[in-house]
Amino acid sequence: MAKDKAKTKTEMKPQVEGKEWWVDSKGKRIDGRSVTDLRDITIKAGVLPNADGSCYLEWGQNKVLVSVHGPRECLPKHQANPYKATVRYNYRMATFSVTERKNPRPGRREVEISKVSGEALERAIFLEKFPNTAIDIFVEVLDANAGTRIACLTAAAVAVADAGIPMRDLVTGITVGRAEGNAIIDLNKHEEDAPDAVDMAVAFLPNSKEVVLLQMDGEMTSKEFENLMEMAADNASKVYELQKAALKESVLSKSPEQIPGMDEVTDTGAPRMEAMSEEEQEMLKPRDPMAFHGHEFEEETKIEPKPAKKGKKDPKKADETIDEDSGEDYSDMERDAYDGGKE
Ligand code: UDP
Repeated sequence: MAKDKAKTKTEMKPQVEGKEWWVDSKGKRIDGRSVTDLRDITIKAGVLPNADGSCYLEWGQNKVLVSVHGPRECLPKHQANPYKATVRYNYRMATFSVTERKNPRPGRREVEISKVSGEALERAIFLEKFPNTAIDIFVEVLDANAGTRIACLTAAAVAVADAGIPMRDLVTGITVGRAEGNAIIDLNKHEEDAPDAVDMAVAFLPNSKEVVLLQMDGEMTSKEFENLMEMAADNASKVYELQKAALKESVLSKSPEQIPGMDEVTDTGAPRMEAMSEEEQEMLKPRDPMAFHGHEFEEETKIEPKPAKKGKKDPKKADETIDEDSGEDYSDMERDAYDGGKE
């Protein structure tokens, strides 16, 4: 949990004597934070037993739930990629998540957020390990107060890791911006609506500091941009620590068989032979790559019993294989077509 105490929407007082304000003379914002304070963040991984991976995250007033399924068969098939997994990120806001009823139909904003967030996660996942599969990420915003796309992406990265999907890094998001001339981090809705507001959503691969998402509303100078990017990179590490802690807690509370792949590896990470089938064990044995393993190509030859004479019902055969009118036995024809008529 971040130390910073954020107040709920009802405690905020955006007006003093009828005049709107954003940052007071002491550098305090309307919810009591300083310009570099994050809102309270709580992250819990592994909250949905039916999902392969999941995460519930609270970021100030924002409450989001993420469920990850896959890698699994990619349907419809035309969406499958023979070289890598297809990430399908679905961001949705619940109708009750904002004060005015949100139309349940996904709008352009949701389609856009889904696209850029999915692309950001693609940079972190080893997609090439899972060709022709889909990784489905369902993201529901239950309560919203600015910065939901970043809260969701941060939670989605935890959920993907919780699903045991191999990743080069997590994805950590943060928003930075400007209100009433002040550079601030983690804007709330009141700050996003300031007359001179700049609202910038940034997501990093936290270890390499590679930027995987960058979106901005408003106008600013290049100097302001540089300053805001620095603030974002410095403060994203606080969020990253919370993500790691949530994953650690989730792993420690699970039994080994609940952790994908854990029952198949030893403490050193090597595959556990007993958990494998005989066939898998055979495949793992060292072999001479130049040797010809002829037995692997031998086919088992089965001798089929002679077919019954035409017109006569063979009681051992299923009725549906014999045509009632002609007495033709289709099971024989099917077999002939399959093995080229060999007896
Ligand atoms: N919002 C709303 N209705 C909508 C969409 C958004 O009231 O249909 C509010 C919600 O609080 C959201 C905020 O506007 O968090 C800012 O939305 P924005 O598009 O900037 O995305 P976000 O900051 O949530 O990533």
